[in-house]
Amino acid sequence: MTIARQFHWRGSREKRDPRPVGTPETRRYFSALATRNSVLATRYNTPMIHEIIPVGPLQCNCSVIGDETTHEAMVIDPGDDTEDVLALIQKHNLQVKQIVITHAHIDHVGGAMKLRAATGAPILLNQNDYALLKMLDAQAAWIGMPAPGKVEIDRSIGDGDKLTAGSLQAHVIETPGHTQGSICLFFPGEDKDKDEHKLIAGDTLFAGSIGRTDLPGGSTEKIMRSLHNLVGSLPDNTLVIPGHGPLTTIGEEKQTNPFLIKR
Ligand SMILES: [Zn+2]
Repeated sequence: MTIARQFHWRGSREKRDPRPVGTPETRRYFSALATRNSVLATRYNTPMIHEIIPVGPLQCNCSVIGDETTHEAMVIDPGDDTEDVLALIQKHNLQVKQIVITHAHIDHVGGAMKLRAATGAPILLNQNDYALLKMLDAQAAWIGMPAPGKVEIDRSIGDGDKLTAGSLQAHVIETPGHTQGSICLFFPGEDKDKDEHKLIAGDTLFAGSIGRTDLPGGSTEKIMRSLHNLVGSLPDNTLVIPGHGPLTTIGEEKQTNPFLIKR
């Protein structure tokens, strides 16, 4: 199953322009969508609260994402600086429904237990990173941080899972390589071509670079497969929020990222 098949844009382009677009496969896909979505009538691209705050000594990009109407929210990668994250939650009057961890590196998961204690929200991580999570003390020693203590995971998430906060929906994509259990979260816009989509990329894809694979559980072969799956399936107008550093887009990375340019 390709990534694109997991998502259901509403196919509104088809209504405006009946000419078939793309390959026979994508045409079949979009016509199937039109039927399915008339039933589901899922609302996408409702106004979204999205705050990105770099946390901790390694400046991990923590995302606070909330529905502007219901104020339900999810926090992704609360690595540290829990007080600052909680201040953002309070600023927007949010009710955190889930705490999502893209992978079990300390700079992404270090503040999760404090945030769970403050919000009551469950912590979600792919089970293939459970072993890495048991090594948090060793990870802390590598980068000279105090050990954060044990982090308890409430539920494993993986391919095909959809996480919701109000009317917002994130699709989980497994992207092993940086770690065995790395995931990305994809928030599809309402119209595949016109609207912006978002990808929370963890440490899989960066602006102009990719995640390192020399740490325990890393695999260059796997990360390249994951990356080609992402850039081959997601629309160019997908805003990428990497785990560290500046934002980018899938289109920009396809054209300029030295690890992804087709030779
Ligand atoms: Zn990492």
